[in-house]
Amino acid sequence: MPTVLVVDDSEDNARLLEYDLNDDGFDVLIALSGDECITTAATRRPDLILLDMRMPGLSGLETLEKLKSFAETADIPVIIISASSADDSIIKALDLGASDYVSKPVVYPILAARMRTALRVKQATLELEVANQELRRLATTDPLTRLSNRRHFFSLAHAEFAKAQRHKRPLSIIMMDVDEFKSINDTYGHAAGDKALDILADCCREAVRESDIVGRIGGEEFAICCPDADLQGAGAIAERIRATCEKRIIPYGTQQFRFTVSLGVTCRAMQDTVFDDMLNRADQLLYQAKLNGRNRAIAC
Ligand code: GH3
Ligand code: MG
Ligand code: MG
Repeated sequence: MPTVLVVDDSEDNARLLEYDLNDDGFDVLIALSGDECITTAATRRPDLILLDMRMPGLSGLETLEKLKSFAETADIPVIIISASSADDSIIKALDLGASDYVSKPVVYPILAARMRTALRVKQATLELEVANQELRRLATTDPLTRLSNRRHFFSLAHAEFAKAQRHKRPLSIIMMDVDEFKSINDTYGHAAGDKALDILADCCREAVRESDIVGRIGGEEFAICCPDADLQGAGAIAERIRATCEKRIIPYGTQQFRFTVSLGVTCRAMQDTVFDDMLNRADQLLYQAKLNGRNRAIAC
């Protein structure tokens, strides 16, 4: 059942409302001042607040302003209870973020209907937030490997490049590509290839630091952006990934197979003006690794 915090300096008024609210199935908390309301709201997190406008000490408006300024209480819907519908403070309260108002004397069925509306809006907002989060996740991740997708990787990497430039910090990038991946698909099937990509993603995740950004930027091409890593540090990560992949035996049905990766590693240099300068260099080094026989990391 939803919990309602009733805020009124008159305990009699509060108890009267509590009676109706209990009857309607709500759990009720009571605060007899603005200060008490703020503490109770922050600690007990009611689903809704019924706030009297006229109170000695902290007024209803001041209380509302505080509720809306604290992260813990800002999202709790507040219905104002004002002395009359001609009260100027109603407009101020609505502008401050109150969900609705009722005037005294409170007609309970009308208050209850407005409470239901406020709770419905709150619920819909929560559901929208969850849906938005899921949409953001879908728009930024690669479904097969759960790594950042190409667009998200580049957006994060560009931001890291700007940050590294501003603070004159090192930044490295690793580009990698599965060797002869086409033949894995051709020999064991596309699903086996997918499994190899998923395992490579795990290898990358295990090899990097929390602050590193790993992305799947193409079919069997991955990239890692390593903030605060110099060439030696990033080279070590690349070599670790290469060696782990080489050793890994992948069971697939009754068969098993292995794969290797080639990697190009480079660090931000003075002459790099945009992230793509680094990227192109890493890509050329990766190409070099392929030419030199694959299953190797070249850092330069
Ligand atoms: P190289 O060593 O030169 O990189 O050779 P390669 O065979 O890995 O390179 P190529 O570019 O010829 O082939 C890449 C293959 O990756 C072809 C494509 O069908 C496959 N591929 C791309 N995306 C996926 C995917 O999501 N799943 C699977 N299983 N295969 C994919
Ligand atoms: Mg490729
Ligand atoms: Mg390849």
